[in-house]
Amino acid sequence: MYHHIKQLMYTVHIGRPDPRFGNMLLEQFGGANGELAAAMQYSIQGLNCDDPDRKDLLMDIGTEELNHLEVVGTLARMHLKPTKDNRDAAAEDPLISIAGGGGVNLYNSMGNAWTADYLKITGELDVDLRSNIAAEARAKIVYERLINFTDDPGTIDALRFLMTREITHMKAFTAALESMGKPMFSIGRIPPTPGLTDQYFNTSTGVGDRGEPDARGPWNQGGDWQMVDAPAFQELESPRAGTRQTGPVEPLV
Ligand code: MN
Ligand code: MN
Repeated sequence: MYHHIKQLMYTVHIGRPDPRFGNMLLEQFGGANGELAAAMQYSIQGLNCDDPDRKDLLMDIGTEELNHLEVVGTLARMHLKPTKDNRDAAAEDPLISIAGGGGVNLYNSMGNAWTADYLKITGELDVDLRSNIAAEARAKIVYERLINFTDDPGTIDALRFLMTREITHMKAFTAALESMGKPMFSIGRIPPTPGLTDQYFNTSTGVGDRGEPDARGPWNQGGDWQMVDAPAFQELESPRAGTRQTGPVEPLV
């Protein structure tokens, strides 16, 4: 059940409207990493969730994102309002001005319509939580970039609130994932093929024009890692009856 309270989650005050900045704010209203996407992703994941504790978490944060949508929409609306009847302001966002009369709509900053394609909903709780941690990181960096492009103290204040809440959500989703107690690389039920999981394919080789190395690091050496030279440069024999293949040797299980 949803219930609307006629009050913003965070009070918004702005100085002079900045229609160009209002257009940029639409990225967090109807954009890929915006508040509607977050609200829908977590709420629909919550509908699908059979774990009552984490369902509660998904519904709590999904609902908070709806509150953020209202805050960022109010903020964008304040900055875009002059596009209704001011020619110079209208030029900053003709779609909002001509089609929307200065009001916000569910488009991103380039006028692309919001789409459910933005959402990552897999029906597998730990996989969804990983998507949510990444989504919060993206939302945080988008808010940071927006903050860097305005001088208005009231706008910065509201954006800092919204930015901070995304880190809070990131912490909560991370704790929820860790508390499931699943090993880090255990996804789904079918185990990965032994041996093959530890093979690092060195498929980008040589030294680049700017000295880019064929790098080694904890992502391909130490522990169980086994460096495998690029299959394209190898003549690999298949364990199957003498057939030649261009890919890596199939593992013997
Ligand atoms: Mn948010
Ligand atoms: Mn969030």
